[in-house]
Amino acid sequence: MRPISPSVLRPYVCPSCRTARFSKRRFGSKPAPVTDIYDVICVGGGPAGLALLAALRASPATSKLKVALVESQNLDKSRSWKLDPQHFSNRVSSLTPSSVSFLQKIGAWEHLDVARTQPYQAMEVWDGETGSKISFDWSMETSPFEDLRTVATMTENTNLVRALLSRIAASGDENLSIFSESTVSSIENGGSGEADGPDLSAWPVLSVAPTGNSTSSPSRIAARLLVGADGINSPVRRYTDIATEGWDYQRHGVVATLSLADQVPTIFPVGSRTAYQRFLPSLGGPIAVLPLPNNHATLVWSTTVENAAYLKSLSPGAFVAMVNAAFRLGMPDLQYMMRMERPSTSITDLDEDPHESELTWRLQHTPSVPQLPPMVTGVQEGSVASFPLRFRHASTYISPRVALVGDAAHVIHPLAGQGLNLGLGDVASLSSTIEYAVNHGMDIGDILTLERYTADRWATNAKIGGTCDVLHKLYNVPGQGPVAWGRSLGFEIIDRLPFVKGFLMRNANS
Ligand SMILES: Cc1cc2nc3c(=O)[nH]c(=O)nc-3n(C[C@H](O)[C@H](O)[C@H](O)COP(=O)(O)OP(=O)(O)OC[C@H]3O[C@@H](n4cnc5c(N)ncnc54)[C@H](O)[C@@H]3O)c2cc1C
Repeated sequence: MRPISPSVLRPYVCPSCRTARFSKRRFGSKPAPVTDIYDVICVGGGPAGLALLAALRASPATSKLKVALVESQNLDKSRSWKLDPQHFSNRVSSLTPSSVSFLQKIGAWEHLDVARTQPYQAMEVWDGETGSKISFDWSMETSPFEDLRTVATMTENTNLVRALLSRIAASGDENLSIFSESTVSSIENGGSGEADGPDLSAWPVLSVAPTGNSTSSPSRIAARLLVGADGINSPVRRYTDIATEGWDYQRHGVVATLSLADQVPTIFPVGSRTAYQRFLPSLGGPIAVLPLPNNHATLVWSTTVENAAYLKSLSPGAFVAMVNAAFRLGMPDLQYMMRMERPSTSITDLDEDPHESELTWRLQHTPSVPQLPPMVTGVQEGSVASFPLRFRHASTYISPRVALVGDAAHVIHPLAGQGLNLGLGDVASLSSTIEYAVNHGMDIGDILTLERYTADRWATNAKIGGTCDVLHKLYNVPGQGPVAWGRSLGFEIIDRLPFVKGFLMRNANS
């Protein structure tokens, strides 16, 4: 990367544009001298922000860029994250093969504790109201002579974050500044005579303040390109005034780490694992159990706020009974169990929980279906939690000298497990846009340079986020009316046409 000379730092912007176009861009206010100028400043050290940094450091074209990361959490905790092999974090993402390939390409996958990840090759999806189902199974499309194709690989977010930090550390610390436990307290356009004279009036200048135990002093830093990877409430997005549309689903995603009964070993393909998702329209959304190593699994149950609160208040035994019931019982039975009184505290360990006895009794009167997951036998202590589910989409991902990636740009319903995959897709696209600009001597923060990124990603993300939104709405219509009939017909048609299923699986993985 060529050194930043004052002439490069002074792109021509006419005075009226300067005041009209840039003066509105401000998030907070805190004037002080600019202490440093970076090519790229990334706000947010979640998986998307760290992946961007790792990608820039991995490419020969961009590895010499002067980059900074600002993250409000303590990254040392993420670096030293450790759990024993029988325990798993409750925030787990299903990474598609494209996401895994990208992480391999930037050298991050080899830093991951792969023994804690779990690929799966098949997925059973069915409608709890009508019983219609689709089985997605890559073994249908895999010959015995090639490796089993995966639908996705389950990976704890903490494992991924630690791997990305380790990959960044392996790239050395030249031209790299990490502001951990530091928050962006304001972003504004710089002045025209800052830092030895460069005109920064069209450049974002960030005031970074230490938080918690950090001993570093506050700084004011300028970015040729500012990347917002700072999540749903993105301060970077607020600074740019980029509009966002969206709504809250009034649903929560209940997550937990589960233990499963022994699986019946598969004869062919050996070692293949399956994910299960059952739509429960009368309860507000689908329940999914996705495999983790050693007969563990992760739960994502999208349901109403009241149901989520109820589930979180249950004893471990009752919680496990509810999860097993949600895959096995009919809707009226399940609704009954969701309203059962919680047992009094006088229950001893020897007494069977009322939810467990209710499930045992009701199962005797419920016909079984072939696609059931193994019985859940336990829930890891302290792993039950819930997150509000929301939809957000920024009207564009770019503004002069600013780009948004990941949840800062879009937040979608988790029913297809695509949120982080879209974020990694953004990062792959933005890093290749920056690489292209560097290779062609272009200004990496120029809006014309960044157009390439937003053109590549916006429509793709809108399509996937929109599809998840429609599926959520379609699968929230309870009962056996015309919508349920239409859903059922759609499922059956897709299930019987292998080439349509193959097409859907390939698209879900791209
Ligand atoms: C229940 C549930 C299940 C999910 N399952 C899946 C799945 O299976 N597959 C999948 O692909 N996705 C899944 N997702 C979505 C996925 O978790 C998110 O899309 C992903 O974590 C977003 O990553 P990110 O880096 O963009 O944002 P975040 O993880 O939100 O990171 C943003 C970072 O910015 C930092 N930050 C914010 N403000 C500031 C500031 N002012 N100064 C400094 N730092 C700041 C924050 O501390 C944070 O570290 C799921 C989501 C939910 C709710």
